[in-house]
Amino acid sequence: MSVRVRYAPSPTGSPHVGNVRTAIFNWLFARHEGGEFIARLEDTDRDPARYRPESIQDIETSLNSLGITPDEWWVNKEPSGYVQSERLPFYQAAAQELIDKGHAYPCFCTTERLTQMREEQQSRGVPSGYDRRCRRLSPADRERYISEGMQYTVRLAVPLEGKTTYNDLVYGEITFENKLIDDQVLLKSSGWPTYHLAVVVDDHAMGITHVIRGEDWLPSTPKQILLYQMLGYEQPKWIHAPLIVGTDKKKLGKRHGSTKFVEFIEQGYLPDALFNFLILCGWSAGDENRELFTKEEIVERFTLQGISKSAAVFDYEKLKWMNGSYIRSYSTEKLVALCMPYLVKAGTVSEPISSETTAYLAQVFPLVAERMKLLTEAPALVEFFFNDPTEYEDKGKRKWLTGEEAQNRISKAIEVFSNADGEWTIENAELATNKVVELTGSERGPIIHTLRTSITGRTVGPGLFETIAVLGKDCVVRRLHNALAAVTIVENAE
Ligand code: GLU
Repeated sequence: MSVRVRYAPSPTGSPHVGNVRTAIFNWLFARHEGGEFIARLEDTDRDPARYRPESIQDIETSLNSLGITPDEWWVNKEPSGYVQSERLPFYQAAAQELIDKGHAYPCFCTTERLTQMREEQQSRGVPSGYDRRCRRLSPADRERYISEGMQYTVRLAVPLEGKTTYNDLVYGEITFENKLIDDQVLLKSSGWPTYHLAVVVDDHAMGITHVIRGEDWLPSTPKQILLYQMLGYEQPKWIHAPLIVGTDKKKLGKRHGSTKFVEFIEQGYLPDALFNFLILCGWSAGDENRELFTKEEIVERFTLQGISKSAAVFDYEKLKWMNGSYIRSYSTEKLVALCMPYLVKAGTVSEPISSETTAYLAQVFPLVAERMKLLTEAPALVEFFFNDPTEYEDKGKRKWLTGEEAQNRISKAIEVFSNADGEWTIENAELATNKVVELTGSERGPIIHTLRTSITGRTVGPGLFETIAVLGKDCVVRRLHNALAAVTIVENAE
């Protein structure tokens, strides 16, 4: 039996990282097993409070950017067969079949009655659920209400006794008392299905062999199992992946930080890093103490046994660290290309990008990549390679651009650098700096700090000699002149 798994997002908002993790797990399992990965849009909940059709774009972007494009899905197909709102007749037929078999019944209760019932149950402190009034209607009453044109929903007739047991491949054997399961609405009076009916009909119709989804869907499983049994369908295997939580062990939400996948992309996280990070949220490769894996390595290692039961902590710091590792593993060319949109947006470079700019960036990036954790940091990190400092970091100005000694150091540096002949290389930049040390009789440290502050405006940054080499002679000398003019002389210094 070939494996077929699915990712079944609802367009209720831009996908949460936990939801995207589910997509990744499904994709990995399909790839590992040589099976198929499909995506189905579960868009039957049209409540304006939840329905967000604009989020479909983010669902597609998330899958595409991670490189886990489904083998079958709705994109570029019209009608696709993978969008539930196109498939209403299938759910209606299944609801009718359940009624005919006595496993479902029409419910004529009004919204007012149901609200009143719920409020009353809440005030008594008992679990809320349908009181099954319409289940007890006589066939004659049912016929009459229908012929009178009364609106009705279709409800699942949950067995009143017994238990529903299933084997979750992660959580083991799980048993639910049937009497505690609500007579769930399967079809609304509008003829649209609810999630439970649609998911079962489609997972069966689409030949899904394994349902891999978040643990929050675990309580839904017994209702779905009952539907499988009542409709005579063969059940898939059930796999629930643990919840993703914040460091406080509470479900990952807005108050922890960003939670939407696309937000991380906007913030300069790399899809490769997000893939690697999310896969480790609830899965491990065994006893290996490794954190960084290529996609191919994970495909090779991914098995359902690696999915853990305990909640996965989403550590933002670790994700940032991982992103930095990926940034450093990329070729300069790739990194420049990835950062280009951010540099354009920040106005560091302007379009069309000339070949000189690209070549210059190729020299600059190896110097700054070491410090970069997010692509969005690129403009600030490379800024001084494009613009002369217009101001100097406070600390640097106070320590290195104040007083006569500073003046002397910078003057000597101007002399040495403007007279430097020979090639403008890293080695020669160091030799020239040594010469300034000699001429001023000062320590090496203060000279380096003075030069760095003068040339970059900052007190920390990439290697000084490398920076001098990349900036070029004219630029370095000009900046030294600017710094000299900016030196503050403190009168009456003791
Ligand atoms: N449409 C559901 C969701 O939004 C699917 C749950 C499931 O995988 O069964 O996640």
